[in-house]
Amino acid sequence: MQITRLPIESHEEVYRVEDPDAGLLGFIAIHSTRLGPAAGGLRMRIYDGEAAAVEDVLRLSRGMTFKNAAADLPLGGGKAVILGDPARQKTPALLQAMGRAIETLQGRYWTAEDMGMSTADMSILAGQTRFVAGLAGGAHGSGDPSPVTARGVFNAIGTALRHRFGTAELAGRVVAVQGLGSVGRHLGALLHGAGARLVVADTDPARVAAAVSGWGAQACPVERIHAAPADVFAPCAIGAVLNAGTVPDLRCAVVAGAANNQLATAADGAALHGRGIIYAPDFVANGGGIINVAAEILRRPDRDAWVAAKLARLDATLDAILTRAARERVGPNEVAERVVAERMASRAA
Ligand code: NAD
Repeated sequence: MQITRLPIESHEEVYRVEDPDAGLLGFIAIHSTRLGPAAGGLRMRIYDGEAAAVEDVLRLSRGMTFKNAAADLPLGGGKAVILGDPARQKTPALLQAMGRAIETLQGRYWTAEDMGMSTADMSILAGQTRFVAGLAGGAHGSGDPSPVTARGVFNAIGTALRHRFGTAELAGRVVAVQGLGSVGRHLGALLHGAGARLVVADTDPARVAAAVSGWGAQACPVERIHAAPADVFAPCAIGAVLNAGTVPDLRCAVVAGAANNQLATAADGAALHGRGIIYAPDFVANGGGIINVAAEILRRPDRDAWVAAKLARLDATLDAILTRAARERVGPNEVAERVVAERMASRAA
């Protein structure tokens, strides 16, 4: 196996990992360890070349620094990617090789599930490295983080509604959910349980059909869900859904969802603010999953109580961000970035 360090100044450490015998080509990026060991998931997907994979791992690992700091975790930001089709190219040998590469970093980077990875894959990695979380079993195994992510997004929706309408009450509110995958379907169930009416879209018609029959949701074409008349738009599928093409079409009062990197550019955050739409910054709203993973990394003996307390603190952080954004008359995304920078500066001293 060849592990080559890449000279990239914006990040503490970046490695190219190659093991031709195992069919592995990937990258590991440690953006920051100022607040603790870098933590962030392992993603496997088809990339349009190595440069695209490097760009992804750098962007995602930086995002993890923000997410972990916003969630008030003693963890820095890191991420790893593998180039390839998980459906056809993910083998035990490939995962074991990645596990060995992660082990060489001696705990400066902790991995967990991301796109293209399952809890079963994490157990294969665990055969080669101690620095893996998101395991289904074992004394501290935290399993699938999606239900906790959904709980955090549900809280964020309530907080954003309270800022907009003076009440977090969901009964009678309309929420447009984009994506009914691991997080979206848990979120939909929570919203339905709280009395919200749902409008849903997914590229998988079976998931839409389940939401229509289970929750009485209204189905919406995938390309129109962002423009559905609703109190809340909850992006839970893909990134960059808030862009110059979609923001003018939004017909909601609040945007709060699980997807990473929802804003195509910072200017789109300003455009949302200009339209009077309250945006719950994604790296704050979706921090529940990493909180769940962190309980495993930190070996918390009191995991349920600790996760609940961290979720409540995350919600208080969002509340403070929205209050400050309203006072300063700027978008919450801008304030959220500043809050994270302040936290890092004060705790890394
Ligand atoms: P998932 O793959 O389980 O679900 C995504 C769903 O979106 C699938 O049902 C898919 O069919 C659907 N989809 C894909 N493209 C779509 C489109 N254009 N329009 C509508 N639906 C579309 O993923 P997930 O784990 O639920 O994560 C959803 C998002 O939240 C991702 O952006 C992920 O990075 C982010 N996120 C997830 C977690 C977690 O705990 N799983 C934590 C933080 C952030």
